[in-house]
Amino acid sequence: MNASTQTVTKTKVTALPGDGIGPEVMQATMRILEAASAPIEWETAEAGAEVFKKGLITGVPRETMDSIARNGLALKSPLETPVGFGGKSANVTLRKYFELYANIRPVRALPGVITPFSGRGIDMVIVRENVEDVYAGIEHMQTPTVAQCLKLMTAPGCERIIRAAYGLALAEERKKVTVATKANIMKLTEGLMKRVGEKVAPEFPEITPDHIIIDNCAHQLVIKPEKFDVIVTSNMNGDIISDLAAGLVGGLGIAPSSNLGDNAAIFEAVHGSAPDIAGKGLANPTALLSAAIMLLRHIGAFAVAETVEQALFITLAEGKNLTGDLSPRGHGVGTEAFTNQIIANFGRSSNLPSRTYKKLELKAWPKLTAHIEPNTRELVGIDVFLETDLGSEELGKTLENIAQDSPFKLNGISNRGVQVYPPTGGQTFLVDHFACRFMFKNPIPLTDSLAAGQPEISYLVQRIGAKFTWMHIEKLQRFDGKDAFERPQGEG
Ligand code: NAP
Repeated sequence: MNASTQTVTKTKVTALPGDGIGPEVMQATMRILEAASAPIEWETAEAGAEVFKKGLITGVPRETMDSIARNGLALKSPLETPVGFGGKSANVTLRKYFELYANIRPVRALPGVITPFSGRGIDMVIVRENVEDVYAGIEHMQTPTVAQCLKLMTAPGCERIIRAAYGLALAEERKKVTVATKANIMKLTEGLMKRVGEKVAPEFPEITPDHIIIDNCAHQLVIKPEKFDVIVTSNMNGDIISDLAAGLVGGLGIAPSSNLGDNAAIFEAVHGSAPDIAGKGLANPTALLSAAIMLLRHIGAFAVAETVEQALFITLAEGKNLTGDLSPRGHGVGTEAFTNQIIANFGRSSNLPSRTYKKLELKAWPKLTAHIEPNTRELVGIDVFLETDLGSEELGKTLENIAQDSPFKLNGISNRGVQVYPPTGGQTFLVDHFACRFMFKNPIPLTDSLAAGQPEISYLVQRIGAKFTWMHIEKLQRFDGKDAFERPQGEG
């Protein structure tokens, strides 16, 4: 077959032009990719503001979901989140629907983008767990004045994000994976991620494992950002430090990201729809173009990715025909001229070489509900969360009386995680939300009967309910002889 008759297999990708400056940066990106003969066939679909206006509260129509499900790949421009009326974030809808658990945010100092950190050689990737943690959005008002948000972290959730981080380190020939947690305070949730990190690390002997407490990570990112390679962290921590890290190399306006799951991947610019400059032809397409470069590497089109990346790098380095956000005041050009300049620079190389990339392989997870049965389970007590305006001393005495003829003993009462009964001498400000810990006088093994302990719990809760408004009960269990709960601050 001669060159003119060769056909390149194209990969179908759903394109979401989105809102505000979205369509402009999407058009620029598509034009650059087409000029580079990228092996992509676009399937354009709708999501965001126009969809919300039609009354669809998810912001993403069925046809768009189907297109992404079919193609398994999408390039997404910013989508507006309605403020003040009842729509959810279309971004979050997509992330959760396709279980895009790994948010990958490369942070590399770009030539010509001058920041206080220029010249330090910043080149890292932040891998943020994208679906668990407090962002599961499980929230309750426990009393009229006390709000609760559940922080759910799971062993499989931690394992798959940690494996994604190591997989990415291998694919990008990186040397170190730093697990950043708040395990010193949240020993069960954040601690789980630290422990899973320690379990998985030995499978990757060529990569140096590392752990850092997340607040020190934020500090080190500013003091010595060049020492980081891959950082993997939980959802909220990742949300914060990935924006911080983007700020080190020029801000959100140029930062790309990918959201990866087992069956779909969505690539996007980190910035929003910048409504103030929308429709004016002024937007900088760098972030979406960089996301498209990530997409090209994801599908294995490494050579085209490098051509486009080097053309972008040299355009930024030479500083000719840059958009207003990257230029001295009054010297910026529009989106189109910047796009033309990148295309004109195809085939040239910058002083910043592209990294060597291999395909990132994510471990496929079985479709079954993830479950590990411990060898032994015991029920050792319950926490009853109740609302009252009594003081802690009076509440303690009342609950001790209530528990007297039950199989439980009142172990203690805490208020916002601090023991207030029996008193410790601490100066805790009390709110009307108390966690009252009752321990079984004799722990109940849970191996024999599913109903074990339930009549006793019902009896106690009924007696408490006759005097107080309770809103939440938590079983205290012991798995394989280990307490599956934490102790409040101050418990002796
Ligand atoms: P934003 O759209 O990122 O805009 C903040 C400012 O950054 C803009 O006003 C503009 O500033 C500058 N900017 C951002 N991207 C730029 C680009 N490509 N080229 C040039 N300048 C750029 O943030 P926002 O105003 O907070 O959010 C606006 C909407 O976007 C909201 O509806 C929000 O929900 C949505 N949003 C969506 C996503 C997403 O889809 N992933 C992410 C964030 C926000 P100047 O022109 O003033 O310099």
